[in-house]
Amino acid sequence: MNFRIQPGGSAKTATDVAVPWSSAIVSAPPARMYTPCDKCSSTDADVYMVHDDLWASSGLSGWVCFRCFEKAIGRRLVATDFKSLPGNTDLVYHGPELRDRLGLS
Ligand SMILES: [Zn+2]
Repeated sequence: MNFRIQPGGSAKTATDVAVPWSSAIVSAPPARMYTPCDKCSSTDADVYMVHDDLWASSGLSGWVCFRCFEKAIGRRLVATDFKSLPGNTDLVYHGPELRDRLGLS
């Protein structure tokens, strides 16, 4: 079974990425999803979801790592920029820097 997720939000032009259900949700600790960033190709591109207005202000679409997103908006992300969704919690793997921005560390 697969489900589809995208970082950032609701842009209809965003590229959805199919992620195996078992590795995203069931594993404990969660498995890292190596989906490269559409912009810089970095594999350090863990899932996150920011509020729709912030995502829209970036002008970005697709799967974009938080570093490229921060460059686009010209500032560092803070915990209040993220939606209250499972994809922004410990249910999903996030690298140390993204965890810091999410307020998980
Ligand atoms: Zn990137």
